[in-house]
Amino acid sequence: MASNIHHRSADVRIDEDVDFSTLIRNSLLLKGLGQSGYAKPSPIQLQAIPLGRLGVDLIAQAKSGTGKTVVFSVIAIEAVNLSVKQPQVIIVVPTREIAIQIRDVIRNLSQCMRNLSCEAFIGGLSVQEDHRKITQCQIMVGTPGRLMALMNTDKLNAKDIKLIVMDEADKLMADIFKPQIQYIYQRLPTTKQCIAFSATFTDELLESLNGFMKSPQIVRLTTLVPTLEEVQQYYENVQVDENKMEMPLEIYKAKFEAVGQLLSKVPFYQCMIFLNSVPRAMELTKWLTDMGWQSGYIHAGLTQIQRIKVMEQMRDFKLRVLVCSDLIARGIDIDRVNLVINVDFPWEIETYLHRVGRTGRFGMSGIAVNLIGPSDHDFLQALLDHGVTVNPLPGS
Ligand code: ADP
Repeated sequence: MASNIHHRSADVRIDEDVDFSTLIRNSLLLKGLGQSGYAKPSPIQLQAIPLGRLGVDLIAQAKSGTGKTVVFSVIAIEAVNLSVKQPQVIIVVPTREIAIQIRDVIRNLSQCMRNLSCEAFIGGLSVQEDHRKITQCQIMVGTPGRLMALMNTDKLNAKDIKLIVMDEADKLMADIFKPQIQYIYQRLPTTKQCIAFSATFTDELLESLNGFMKSPQIVRLTTLVPTLEEVQQYYENVQVDENKMEMPLEIYKAKFEAVGQLLSKVPFYQCMIFLNSVPRAMELTKWLTDMGWQSGYIHAGLTQIQRIKVMEQMRDFKLRVLVCSDLIARGIDIDRVNLVINVDFPWEIETYLHRVGRTGRFGMSGIAVNLIGPSDHDFLQALLDHGVTVNPLPGS
C-alpha cells in the first residue's frame, strides 16, 4: 500500500527524511507498521504521534484519508501495558463500521505483539458476546450507545483505562452523542489522557471538547477547505423535462440514467454513490444490478450482520458499486474507491466534504461527480462560495 508514496499528493508527503523508527521505540510495533505497508509517516503522523506518546491531551485535525487512524492506533498500542489483561484504552467512534475498521487496523499494526488484544463493541451484535470479549481485551473500540450500556453493568472494569480517543470528534460532540460521551467520560479514571480527531474543525468543536480536555495541544494541518488535493470534483446537470421539474420521481429517473452513463464512461475501480432516500437507494441498486454492475447498498435499516457482510464484499472487491446513505459518509477507508457520485447533495457542506473524502485516500487520485437537478443549484452555489472547486464535468 505504501510503495507508491513518492507519487502521492502533498497531503500525505513529508520532506523530512524520517521513518517510523524516529517516532516509535517498540520494535514489534515497528515491524507491524512495516508489514502493514507503512514506510514513512504522513505529516499528521509526524506531528501528532510524538505529542500523543507524551501523554498530553490532544486535538488533531487533518483531512480525511491522511492517516489519522494510524496516529491514534499507534498511541493506543503504545499506551497498553501488556501484562495487564484489562481494558486500558477506549476508542469511541460514531458508527459501527468505523469501529470494525479501526479494530482491524489496530490488529494489523499489532500483529507481531501476541499479547495485545483489541475488540469492537457495537450495537446490533450480541451483548453476551461482548461480556465475554471484555474479559480479555485491552483496547476497546466502540460506538457510544454500546459502550455506555457496558459501563452500566459491572462487566466492565474501567479502573485501568488511561486513554480515551474520540474519532470523528465533531460528530461525537453533536447533540445525539454528546450526553453519551459525557456519561462514558465521567466513568473513567480522572487521570486519563484524552485525544480527539476530526477532519473538520470549528470554534464550537473546540468549545465542546474543552469540557473533556486539560489544556490540549492542537495540531491543525488543514486549511479552511478540507478537501483532498487529488480529488477532482465535478458537477453534471441532469436533463429533466420542463413540465416534470416538480416531480421527484422523474428527477430520480433522470439521475439514475445519468449514473448509468457515468459508470460506463468514467474509468473506476470501485464507486460509492450517495443518496438521501433509502427506498431510492434500494431502487438504484436494483437498477444497477440489472444493468450488470456488481452493486450493493448499505444504510442504518439493515441488520448489523448484513452491514458487516456488504462492507466485506466491498473490501474483497466482490462489489464494484456501493450505494450508501450518510451512514458511511465518514471515516470509512476502502482504498480502491476512486469515484464518488452524489445523486443527492447532503444537507451540510461538512457532510459533503466527508463523502468526497471517501476517495483520494492517502493521496491517491479520485473523482467526485455531483448530479445537479432543479433543486440542487443552491447547494452547488454554497459549495462554490465556500471555496470548494467544483467544475462542470468535461464532455457533459
Ligand atoms: P484518516 O483516518 O485520516 O481518514 P486513514 O488512517 O484511514 O486516514 O488512512 C488512509 C489510508 O492511508 C489507509 O488506507 C491507510 O492504510 C493508508 N496510510 C495511512 N498512513 C500511511 C502511511 N504512513 N504510509 C502509507 N499508507 C498509509
